[in-house]
Amino acid sequence: MSTIEIQNLIDGVWTGKPATVRRNPADLDEIVTRTAAATADEVRAAAASAAKAAQEWARTPAPARGRILERAGDLIEQRADEIGDDITREEGKTRAEARGEALRAAQLLRFYGNEGWRLGGETYPSAAGTDLIYSRREPLGVVSVITPWNFPIAIPTWKTAPALIAGNAVLLKPAQVAPVGAWHLARALHDAGLPAGVLSLLNGSGSAVGNTLIDADEVAAVTFTGSNSVGDGIYRRAAPRRIRVQLEMGGKNAVIVLDDADPQTAAEVVAAGAFGLTGQACTATSRVIVTPGIRDRFVEALAAQAERYRPGNGLGDGVLMGPVVSHDQLSSNLDHLQAAVQAGARPVTDGRRVDGLMMAPSILTGVGPADIIAREEVFGPVVAVLDAGGLDAAIDLVNDSRFGLSAGIVTNDLAAVHRFADRVHAGVVKVNRPTSGVELNTPFGGVGDSGTNTYREQGQGALDFFTWTKSVYSATPAW
Ligand code: NAP
Repeated sequence: MSTIEIQNLIDGVWTGKPATVRRNPADLDEIVTRTAAATADEVRAAAASAAKAAQEWARTPAPARGRILERAGDLIEQRADEIGDDITREEGKTRAEARGEALRAAQLLRFYGNEGWRLGGETYPSAAGTDLIYSRREPLGVVSVITPWNFPIAIPTWKTAPALIAGNAVLLKPAQVAPVGAWHLARALHDAGLPAGVLSLLNGSGSAVGNTLIDADEVAAVTFTGSNSVGDGIYRRAAPRRIRVQLEMGGKNAVIVLDDADPQTAAEVVAAGAFGLTGQACTATSRVIVTPGIRDRFVEALAAQAERYRPGNGLGDGVLMGPVVSHDQLSSNLDHLQAAVQAGARPVTDGRRVDGLMMAPSILTGVGPADIIAREEVFGPVVAVLDAGGLDAAIDLVNDSRFGLSAGIVTNDLAAVHRFADRVHAGVVKVNRPTSGVELNTPFGGVGDSGTNTYREQGQGALDFFTWTKSVYSATPAW
């Protein structure tokens, strides 16, 4: 298959010499993309052109902005097979996962395109009855969007689409490991008629491009999804300028399996969350907390599920799990496994079976709550099984984490479900469903070290991050 040449989009012009090579993690001989890295000067030029373009874009009626987003959504849907296969070749996830992600991006563009009809403020009664008082949503101006490799088109879209519909200009920096999804998004918006400068695509390293995206005077806000170490650095760097910052970061997501659950159902729910997407989702299941009456039957059923998730080339028929994204990620996963076993964990399946970047799923029992494998994010197909005497002890274990992104329970006991939903400290709660997977119209984000927990992503709440509120008081003539 041919190599995709990716340039940057600055002031409506595709520019730069594609040089940075990305290989297919399922076939390391194949070069999937060559990408041009933007220089710091180019990022500053893009910020200046974005500031100019943002003024006209903000004055464009919101429904007209929305029509461009909707057209881009249609283009992505038409191109979904091609985009999906490009994502699979570049990042490794299966064809079904990648095509589904492309279709999600199309839906997001249409969803936020439609929001153009609803971007109103509110009216307020005046005490004396003499004023017309109303609020308006105002765009922030220029916003920087910095995204990770693991949802290479969905995450750039779920940040860019609400930013654009609200009337902002966007500077988008995707991860170097997986630039193709953001490139497809930028192409679709460009082809749909987005004016020059309203969206810039700026590839390159976090240190060169990323830092300038925070420092540039024109930038009014940064929204970031990625690791805690990078997110914390962005927060500190942005603080002196007091610009708005949104961070969505890691997770250590747990599922409780109670005695009354069907072991097969529980195993399917946990396996989908832990091994689907090769465990490379911020919402992936990485802990299971089991009560004694179901423990052995559940572990046996989960081991059988793990057999179904034998890793393979994501383009192959019937493959449920693709390779790990990179050598760095693979060695980090294997280091975690080795440390866990040294700390006393017992492997039920052998996740150290590796071929290239293909890594088998791992289930570990004998894990204690203080063990690193129960506390730190792995970001691979590895799940730790912990024991709890009952529901309350299990909820305590779920909450015994610095993260709070997604948490689940498998049970048919309605009272247990509501007790769990009441007590669990997590932004997303799943009942008899995998911890991964979210709807586009529903608020998304975590608590604790999983994020800034100020503005939620997705749904209506995303528009709050990208706008500020102006209150207008106008004397009304006497009737
Ligand atoms: P990452 O290493 O933190 O990178 C994320 C983005 O930040 C990349 O575009 C990266 O650029 C950029 N970056 C790196 N250094 C930077 C700097 N100094 N200034 C500005 N930007 C910088 O994360 P990742 O490995 O791509 O993604 C995996 C992580 O994302 C996991 O921890 C996962 O939990 C988290 N995640 C969270 C969510 C959520 O919604 N909570 C969703 C998905 C993923 P380069 O890599 O190109 O240099």
